[in-house]
Amino acid sequence: KREEVGAAVHGIDPKLVDERALNVVRTLKNAGFEAYVVGGAVRDLMVGLAPKDFDVATNATPEQVKGLFRRAFIIGRRFRIVHVVYGRGREHEVIEVSTFRAYMDNAAAEQVAGNEKTSKSELAGMKHAVDSSGRVLRDNVWGPQEEDAVRRDFTINAMYYDPETQIVVDYHHGIKDSKDRVIRMIGDPATRYREDPVRIIRAVRFAAKLSGLGFKLEAKTAAPLIKSQELLAEVPQSRLFDEMLKLLQTGHALASIEQLKALGMARGIYPLLDVVVQRAEQAFVKAALRDTDRRVSEGKPVVASFLLACVLWADVRDGWAKRINERQHAHPALQDAIEDVFNSHIGDVSGRGKLGGDMREIWMMQPRFEKRVGSAPFGLVEQARFRAAFDFMRLRAETGEIDEVLADWWQEFSLADDNLRQDMVDQVR
Ligand code: ATP
Ligand code: MG
Repeated sequence: KREEVGAAVHGIDPKLVDERALNVVRTLKNAGFEAYVVGGAVRDLMVGLAPKDFDVATNATPEQVKGLFRRAFIIGRRFRIVHVVYGRGREHEVIEVSTFRAYMDNAAAEQVAGNEKTSKSELAGMKHAVDSSGRVLRDNVWGPQEEDAVRRDFTINAMYYDPETQIVVDYHHGIKDSKDRVIRMIGDPATRYREDPVRIIRAVRFAAKLSGLGFKLEAKTAAPLIKSQELLAEVPQSRLFDEMLKLLQTGHALASIEQLKALGMARGIYPLLDVVVQRAEQAFVKAALRDTDRRVSEGKPVVASFLLACVLWADVRDGWAKRINERQHAHPALQDAIEDVFNSHIGDVSGRGKLGGDMREIWMMQPRFEKRVGSAPFGLVEQARFRAAFDFMRLRAETGEIDEVLADWWQEFSLADDNLRQDMVDQVR
């Protein structure tokens, strides 16, 4: 089953491997452990994409890994991994190192948890981690590399690359599937979706991400997707929210929406995602999605608040107009309209204080772009969230909601020195 494949076949250019990841692998191997670059990075290297980040898998335990590096931190109580940190501040780089884990289906996991109640000593011999409640967690039972490969989701995500020997270790024909452009679940897809329903969303995400390279979901992998969707009800909202953002903010938002529609999952994954898909054809929302994809492709940062503010803007605008019609003053009308939108759409993410706060600011600043007299523009341009609010306003202008002259004016104003700014304000009539 285990295949070792050389560079002539897999074609990975070793120069594209992050030097910090190389250093982590080398350090672990020099200490006598097995270590490989694993997962998405190997997949991306094989198909010619630049990996987003480099993960390393090893047979060393988290404690052993930590002991080998100057700045290494054991992260996570449940799923314990090590972050090896290089550099400081904005430039810092984290290499995530995880210990090979055993594959346990649900029955095996329950058995371990059950054993633990009856016989603590039996388990003491096992290499495992226990959380504060004392329950053995399936994800933390160490195992051989072969099992670490089975527990991964897709064959193309289960390859191990040694950047020193340039050998790829492949247990599930990931190399063949990469070349054939197939996204194939390891094992029985329906079972694997039941084990972890988030894999449903991951299937959509990789289908979208790799669609430009001609990848397709294998028929058996795609077939149970729609039926399995109901399993997502068991997944915590916060995890679904995070997965939604990965669909929308990793450079293939439009492709993800296309995939959701093509796969018959335009609805039902997560309420806010349903709204995004429903509105994806609206000019303003489409422009925001396209803009997000462009920014990611240019290596620029993207934030959830901006995209979600765009998606829900129509509701804010309508509620605002309605209240003004009912003779409410513009400012409190906007505040109330925003409150309504939060109550109806963002309830499930209201715990994310910063996200909601940032959305609110982007919206609240919109009417201030209309006031180009006195000291108002000088104050607005100094606001911490000016850039996001301006980008938002420019999208409104580009899609015909407001005059493009206004966007041009603010663009120039934001770049001008104080004298020029004063002239610009004096000229506004
Ligand atoms: P990306 O480029 O988006 O980061 P990735 O493949 O690296 O894609 P990660 O979420 O970073 O995805 O996960 C790293 C690896 O861990 C995956 O390649 C896969 O092998 C494994 N993995 C992650 N999530 C799951 C899951 N829910 N079920 C099984 N394996 C998973
Ligand atoms: Mg990754």
